[in-house]
Amino acid sequence: MLKASLAATAAIFALLVGQPGAAQTAPERTWTRADDTRRIDFPVTAKGEQVLAVDTHTHTIFSDGVVWPSFRLWEAEQDHLAAYAVTDHLEAHPYSPDIVTDDHNRPYAIAVKEAARISSKVLPIPGVEITRGMPWGHFNALFLKDVNALAVDPTMSKDPTEVLKAARGQGAVIIWNHPWALPGLDPAMAELMPAEQRGLLKAGLFDAVEIANSAQYSAAAFDMALKYGLAVVGASDVHGAVDADMQIPEGQHRTTTLVLAKDGSAEAIRAAMLQKRTAALYRQALYGREQELSQIVGAALRMTGKARAQSFLTKDMVQVELHNDAFMPLQLRLSASPLTNSRMLTVPAHGKVVIQFANVPDMAAFTLEAEVLNAFVDPQRNLKVMLR
Ligand SMILES: [Zn+2]
Ligand SMILES: [Zn+2]
Repeated sequence: MLKASLAATAAIFALLVGQPGAAQTAPERTWTRADDTRRIDFPVTAKGEQVLAVDTHTHTIFSDGVVWPSFRLWEAEQDHLAAYAVTDHLEAHPYSPDIVTDDHNRPYAIAVKEAARISSKVLPIPGVEITRGMPWGHFNALFLKDVNALAVDPTMSKDPTEVLKAARGQGAVIIWNHPWALPGLDPAMAELMPAEQRGLLKAGLFDAVEIANSAQYSAAAFDMALKYGLAVVGASDVHGAVDADMQIPEGQHRTTTLVLAKDGSAEAIRAAMLQKRTAALYRQALYGREQELSQIVGAALRMTGKARAQSFLTKDMVQVELHNDAFMPLQLRLSASPLTNSRMLTVPAHGKVVIQFANVPDMAAFTLEAEVLNAFVDPQRNLKVMLR
């Protein structure tokens, strides 16, 4: 979205723009708090794939963001992202009197240089936001080789087919951004895709759609992603500071995309996105297809158990521990009632819950079915898991 700058970020902006090359380093995280909600991490899946946090949408002062590109890299470090895309608007440059360059590769180049300088593990991805009014809207092109080779439309009104084709020619992954947030569209509409968009889709000119952007989620966009076979994407679209935009001091985290990839390289992330191996992470809930969510949650949620001594009240009792190795709590509704807890329970982030069941004569055959109430395989349906 095109956003006004946040007052909360003004101080940071002044500091960073005043000294863009200042010899500061990103704060190295030598400790974590038990209640740290920002540090996005998930265990490797059973198939050995990594669950990478990739923010596909960020802005800097080189378009309508209010921070220097290095600052985005430091924020990505803090959030434990594997990668983030530098996607300044190709068309909107409100700070052009101050940022006097028309080199659209510049913000990415600065991020790469900063990553090298502080030996960052975070991978900046080169990209751009192609910006149009209705009916086309905004598109992010990621993994570009040369942003300057794309035609700029200062009127922001021309058919984007040619520029999307040019991005495709550079090997881009293309995302339709915040489709519910376009002026003129009703966000409550069941079907968000206008005829023009369907034309672009038919021409194979986009691969993914944002279903969550910053503090907003759209069930209609999620439906659309599933219906049209698009990769499910969540992104911060951050313009100010992530802390302020994403309410991190209040216990939130960055809205982002999870990518299931064989490793953290740009090529592996690009290939995984093209294969739609993604899910969106928004306000401590997961949104995606059953295949990806069951792999992500299946790796995070483990059950271990042991037989307990019989008491005069209960027989054939088992005690199980439900472990959660992810950074976010998992909310479960169990198919069977435990002896010692409600059927609705929350397994805390990087934590466990201990529960007991009576009348389980064969512990080895004991299974537990659960719905994961904060994992959605479509807007109305929760992921089901079977724990053994
Ligand atoms: Zn944007
Ligand atoms: Zn936008």
